Amino acid sequence: MRHHGIHHVTAIAGPARRNLDFYTRVLGLRLVKKTVNFDDPGTYHLYFGDSLGQPGSILTFFPWEHVAPGRNGIGSTQETSFRVPEASLGYWTHRFIEQGVEHGNVEKRFGQSVLTFKDPHGTTLALVGTPNAESEPAWTAGDIPSEHAIRGLEGVTLLVENGERTAKILTDVFGFRETAREGSLIRYKTDALIGGTVDIRSAGGFLPGRMGGGSVHHVAFRAKDDADQAEMVKKLAEKHGIETTEQKDRNYFRSVYFREPGGILFEIATDEPGFAADEPQDSLGAALKLPAFLEARRSEIEAHLPELA
Ligand code: ZN
Repeated sequence: MRHHGIHHVTAIAGPARRNLDFYTRVLGLRLVKKTVNFDDPGTYHLYFGDSLGQPGSILTFFPWEHVAPGRNGIGSTQETSFRVPEASLGYWTHRFIEQGVEHGNVEKRFGQSVLTFKDPHGTTLALVGTPNAESEPAWTAGDIPSEHAIRGLEGVTLLVENGERTAKILTDVFGFRETAREGSLIRYKTDALIGGTVDIRSAGGFLPGRMGGGSVHHVAFRAKDDADQAEMVKKLAEKHGIETTEQKDRNYFRSVYFREPGGILFEIATDEPGFAADEPQDSLGAALKLPAFLEARRSEIEAHLPELA
């Protein structure tokens, strides 16, 4: 089976400076790309991930200075989780207390220890204790000891009215399989080491979600290359009656988008060319990178973007 799994998750934040500070300094992720929203170049698009910027490690944000808060609800991504070594949840609980991060108690979910928390703009997150994660590479530029550092995304929890049709997309198009059930949660996994888990919670009767600060905008799944992506697009159309957008060049991957039957925006993003396409691996995230079609407007764009430091 191909390692389809999650490529990245994109969410909406408040002011960029606070978003950057939280994900790099408090959580210790690497800023792997500093660019703008290609469809709205007055807004940053910040990408956080592991040392290599691997697909499956990436959480990205559109930080809007004056965003209204969103609401978690039906047809939205309820939680995004990261992998940490099993023995690290105590360290993280202390860190969250010290840093004033809103968090819950460590709970058990599918036999794993899970520490839920929120970012400063209300995005619902979790750290999942993962066996042997300590042997995997981590980004360790800050004050977080490497044995406790985040090791990429674990996955997402999707909240939908009725998960059956959403599940069919995951299993038939993206190569996930159902592995467990617990209460109203059904777990789907691929064999991808990072970003390989999607939990679906079917819960009728809740209010629909409302997009805003703290909301996940979309979840992107991996395609190896254009041919792999085209195969998935064909399957979506022929077997599920779902049309995707045309392919958009996002510089670091090429993407198509569609709304899955539960109402959540999904993307299929290619693994290639990756984040080193326009700057060296060693200095990922250091400079503001713009796609070729916006380069002519660089000084105007830079003048309007908020200060980051
Ligand atoms: Zn995306």
